[in-house]
Amino acid sequence: MSDIANSSSTSNGNNVRKTVIVGSGPAGLTAAIYTARGNLDPLVIEGYQAGGQLMLTSEVENFPGFKDGIMGPELMMEFRSQAERFGAEFITKDVTKVELDGEVKKIWVGNDLYLAESVIISTGASANLLGLENESRLMGRGVSTCATCDGFFFREKTICVIGGGDSAMEEATFLTRFASKVYIIHRRQGFRASAIMLEKAKDNPKIEFILDTVVTDVLGDDIVTGVKLKNVKTDEEYELKVDGMFVAIGHTPNTKLFDGQIDMDDNGYIQTSPNKAKMSGTNIPGVFACGDVQDSHYRQAITAAGSGCTAALDAEHYLESGNDK
Ligand code: NAP
Repeated sequence: MSDIANSSSTSNGNNVRKTVIVGSGPAGLTAAIYTARGNLDPLVIEGYQAGGQLMLTSEVENFPGFKDGIMGPELMMEFRSQAERFGAEFITKDVTKVELDGEVKKIWVGNDLYLAESVIISTGASANLLGLENESRLMGRGVSTCATCDGFFFREKTICVIGGGDSAMEEATFLTRFASKVYIIHRRQGFRASAIMLEKAKDNPKIEFILDTVVTDVLGDDIVTGVKLKNVKTDEEYELKVDGMFVAIGHTPNTKLFDGQIDMDDNGYIQTSPNKAKMSGTNIPGVFACGDVQDSHYRQAITAAGSGCTAALDAEHYLESGNDK
């Protein structure tokens, strides 16, 4: 049996919240700031890994308003405090089940059931990782999953990019603006990357390809000093000196929870904007999505925050207009 968990904190005198936000990266927290200021009394179920991908980055230099840069986790604390200041409530647990159909949405956190007239989904996406112990340990200290975020810190350095898709080509090409040398390490001869992006990388004099090769370890005590490689054809193992490793082997949107309930594209990203008047609208009335969970392209903190704002305004409009679509 589920306990209805939100009876004490709703301002409308019943057990149904106006809005529940699932996820707490830049998108979810911006939605929280806007919905809190719009008197929607948002409940943010922020997850055990609150704060999203910025919690894994070091310095963020491209978020407007911080001319000297700000550490990713600190930026997220600022967002969160701002939302709290306007009355957003937080639960630091994971949502375990949802039922989004119908006028009243049901959201479970274990046995606790939350009811809401609208739901904003901002569960983000996770960069796929190689799964090596030292890769996680050195994340933010030479290991990165975002060239746009961290490339600037690798001026005149040697770095490697892992992957053979468009992301790897794009990141490697972008990184040559800063680095003196970029290796693309890919596990086979064939590429998923489009011909044009592959050619661009191949034509770049700073880029060297190492094919049929996998990374078996990341080296370095406090910062990355190299990677251990293995040629999968010859089994030869050797070390390569690098100052940074960018992992570009794809992202996985965090949408498992919503499987079968909400329209997604082939890669599992939630499809938004079926109705142009509501940019963050999904196929379910009253359910909105923002941030990386619905954006496989831009994936920036600022674009996520912007879409969090649209989701909040869309939810507000949905509630004001008597829940008509
Ligand atoms: P992707 O196309 O799925 O490519 C991932 C690459 O990582 C593949 O080469 C794959 O190798 C490799 N890989 C996966 N797991 C690995 C592992 N455990 N160890 C080593 N290598 C591994 O992903 P993506 O490059 O992120 O692109 C995703 C989508 O976004 C694509 O549709 C892409 O076209 C699009 N995109 C477009 C642009 C653009 O147009 N500007 C830029 C970026 C991305 P295998 O090939 O051997 O499987």
